[in-house]
Amino acid sequence: MPELPEVETLCRQLRPVIVGREILSLRVIDAKLEGLGPLEGRTVRSVGRHGKRMAWVLSDGRCLVFQLRMTGRLFWIEGERIPPHARLVLTFPAGRIVLSDPRRFATVELCVTPAPSPAPDGLDALDPARLADAARGRRLPVKSFLMDQKTVAGIGNIYASEILHRAGISPLRPAGGLSRAEWKKIAAATAHVLEEAIESRGTSISDWMDLHADRGEYQHHLGVYGRQGERCKTCRRRILRAVIAGRSTFYCPGCQT
Ligand SMILES: [Zn+2]
Repeated sequence: MPELPEVETLCRQLRPVIVGREILSLRVIDAKLEGLGPLEGRTVRSVGRHGKRMAWVLSDGRCLVFQLRMTGRLFWIEGERIPPHARLVLTFPAGRIVLSDPRRFATVELCVTPAPSPAPDGLDALDPARLADAARGRRLPVKSFLMDQKTVAGIGNIYASEILHRAGISPLRPAGGLSRAEWKKIAAATAHVLEEAIESRGTSISDWMDLHADRGEYQHHLGVYGRQGERCKTCRRRILRAVIAGRSTFYCPGCQT
């Protein structure tokens, strides 16, 4: 957390409030984030995203790259009150962007150009043939394969479970054992689940909040995640929980084979 839909939600909400606006000041509260260097007077040209990584292109050509990791959140604040666990405050003419992050794993870097990612973004049209090639001979569970940021950028624990439920594929199966037709189902399910989750501004089952401190709504649409013991909305079998690579994984034994 946050995964692709949550970061994409932030990008869409950030654009109308910061693109074309000047950074008036930078205040670093957490010494771990020191060294970002002067940002005053730079204007935000664009806000982009690849996977879970967000990049603001500035008017001096450099990029401010955010990785929110576990508990990083960005908030737009128009009043005086700074939210708890603030690590960084960027002041714009009409308000402030605050990075709030209780666990302090989020990173913010200033770079000339962000390092290119070898993996397609989860919102790109995924090529089933390319997924099948990348999985060939691999014995790791398909769920872990999907969560590997070198395979597809942006999918984490929640959406991997949801994508495999929609595709009708058990998360426990070795990635190398899936057919071309099954990869096609996964590619289609990925687009569907991620786009629906963005429409809902992400999943707030724990403490995810968007730029305006509102909860997302995709938790009301989850098929399996966090629903252990409840009935599958498709086939009425009870949802099971397994642990794969140390992560809770939820699936339906009826419609996922
Ligand atoms: Zn089912």
